[in-house]
This record gives sequence, structure tokens and C-alpha cells, in this order.
Amino acid sequence: MSIRIAIVGYGKIAKDRHVPSIAADPRFELAAVVSPRAPADEGVPVFPDTAAMLSAMAGKLDAVAVCTPPTVRLEVAAAAFDAGLAVLLEKPPAATLGEIEEIERLGRAAERTLFTAWHSQHAPGVAGARAALAGKTIRSLDIFWHEDVRKWHPGQEWIWAPGGFGVFDPGINALSIATRILPERLFLREAALAFPANRQTPIAARIGFAGGFEADLDWRYSDGERWTIRAEAEDGTAVELLYGGAQLNLDGAAQEVGSIGEYPALYARFAELIEAGESEVDREPLRLVADAFLAGRRETVEPFDW
Ligand code: NAP
Repeated sequence: MSIRIAIVGYGKIAKDRHVPSIAADPRFELAAVVSPRAPADEGVPVFPDTAAMLSAMAGKLDAVAVCTPPTVRLEVAAAAFDAGLAVLLEKPPAATLGEIEEIERLGRAAERTLFTAWHSQHAPGVAGARAALAGKTIRSLDIFWHEDVRKWHPGQEWIWAPGGFGVFDPGINALSIATRILPERLFLREAALAFPANRQTPIAARIGFAGGFEADLDWRYSDGERWTIRAEAEDGTAVELLYGGAQLNLDGAAQEVGSIGEYPALYARFAELIEAGESEVDREPLRLVADAFLAGRRETVEPFDW
């Protein structure tokens, strides 16, 4: 029997990636959508909030995919576990470390699957990069995550509000890849966070990690995207992930990588976890962002308007 799933939060990523990935995976069946304001036309019942959906769909759901902004994840996940459902959380899994810990605790208590879905960890080149660096001592790490906020988050005010992550909304994707491919844990030593004078979250960040590793995140880049991670091991192994992990170069040579996309891979993993009755909870990328806000130096830069 297929997994009857509801999407909670029907915005850009739900429409662009979740709906098509669910439709393409025979293990899943879209059964409902929660959309507070925007109309949804997916041929399934649409509800204004999670409580109304859980009440009307009692006994007709197995799972939810939570695609809201991060600040409401805890209340949505808590209600879903209470209703006995498995939970997939879009990245970042919550607004704070305390919330993801609580969501994890609730999932364990309900004995239901919880999946923190870091889509970039499922980019085609990531598994090969991880294998190439396994067991090695890392000599250098350089992350460049540059994109145009106007292109990727048009009009999304929540990204500038407290709990909205600012440039760490995409930057956490880079950190999710780095924490996945490195054989050692990453520790933040310093950060410089550039806050537009009229906003509550940063538009750019430079991070220094232990070991001299560095990350440069910038939302003011209007010349395409630069989503690149380079790592070198002491033995000379050179790993380069380009286009967000879609391409892998090892020692300068492009590698064959799988063709399955990030979101189909996420749903395949979610189905496996549900079938096995297991959870996968990775808090490391969120820890690094929290550390950047804790230890970072604040710089004020020119106001941002759309
Ligand atoms: P978005 O377009 O602003 O969509 C968020 C949706 O959540 C909105 O439709 C909003 O509905 C809904 N929502 C807000 N509070 C809700 C609640 N309490 N219950 C149910 N729905 C609620 O944002 P997005 O770009 O899709 O991003 C959502 C998440 O996906 C973020 O965590 C982001 O990091 C992640 N993500 C985004 C991208 C991307 O390219 N944009 C890529 C990967 C991952 P109303 O507008 O009707 O209030």
C-alpha cells in the first residue's frame, strides 16, 4: 500500500519539488495539502491549517512533508506525531536547536519516523565526495555559496525576520554537504555577519572554522550562482563539488555521478525509513548556523529592499 502523505506549507519548494517528486514515486500518494492563504489545485483536499487537516483526514494519512518556513515546524510536527504520522522536515528542520531536539523527542515518544531532509546531501556528487575523503586528514576546505536572493526567494519576507536565517537559508545547504563529506566534525571559530540596516537576518556571512577552513556565503550575487565546495586531504586528494553538488571533480577530473535528483532521492530515503520504522535526524548543519549567530561579529551594510 502506498504512503498517504500531506504537504503542509504550499509555497515555492512544495510546488517546485515536493509535488512532482511525490507524483513520480509509486510508494507515495499525495492525499492533502495545508495552505493558509494560497489556493492549491492538486486534486486533493486543501485545508487552511494543520489541525483542520488532521481532524478531517483522521485515518486517511500516514505521513506529512513539512514545507513551511522553519519557525512553525515544532507545532506542525508535534500535531503530526500526535496523530500517529511520520514526519519529513524540509531544511532547516527547525528555527532553533531546542526545537529540533524537542521534535526528535516527540517522534521517539510517538514511535514514528522523523526525517530531517537535507536535500543538498542527496545531490548526485555528494556520496562520491564523501567516499573520496573517508578516513583522511583534511588539509583545506573552501566553501563559496553565492546567489541572488531576488531570484531564489522573490518577495519572501520571512527570510528577513528573526528565525528566517537570511543567507544561512541557502548557506545551510553548503554546511549540510560539508558536514556530510568531511570525516571530521566542523567547529566554528569566528564569523562576520553582514546585516542590511533594515533587516533582522544577514545577507552575507564569512565563516572561519577550526583548521583554517572557510565559508563565504553571499546573497548579493546577481551573476548566476556559485555553489562550490573544495576540500583537500593531506595525501593530496582534491575534491571539488560544483553546482551545489551536481558535479564532482576528483583530482581535477569530472566523475560519473548518479542521475537521480535530490528530491526523488529524499522521498526514496523517507520511504525506506518509514518501512524500516527508523528515523534519520541530523542537527549538525543547524548547530553550525546557531554557532555563527552566537559567535559572529555583526556588520551593518546598506538596507535591502526587493
Ligand atoms: P515559501 O514560498 O514562502 O512557502 C512557505 C509556505 O508555507 C507558504 O505557502 C506559507 O503559506 C506556508 N505556511 C506558513 N506558515 C504555515 C503554517 N503554520 N502552516 C501551513 N503552511 C504555512 O517558502 P519556500 O521557498 O517554499 O521555503 C519553505 C522551506 O523550504 C524553507 O525552509 C526553505 O529553506 C526550504 N527550501 C526552499 C527552497 C527554495 O528554492 N525556495 C529550496 C529548498 C528548500 P501562506 O503564504 O499561505 O501563508
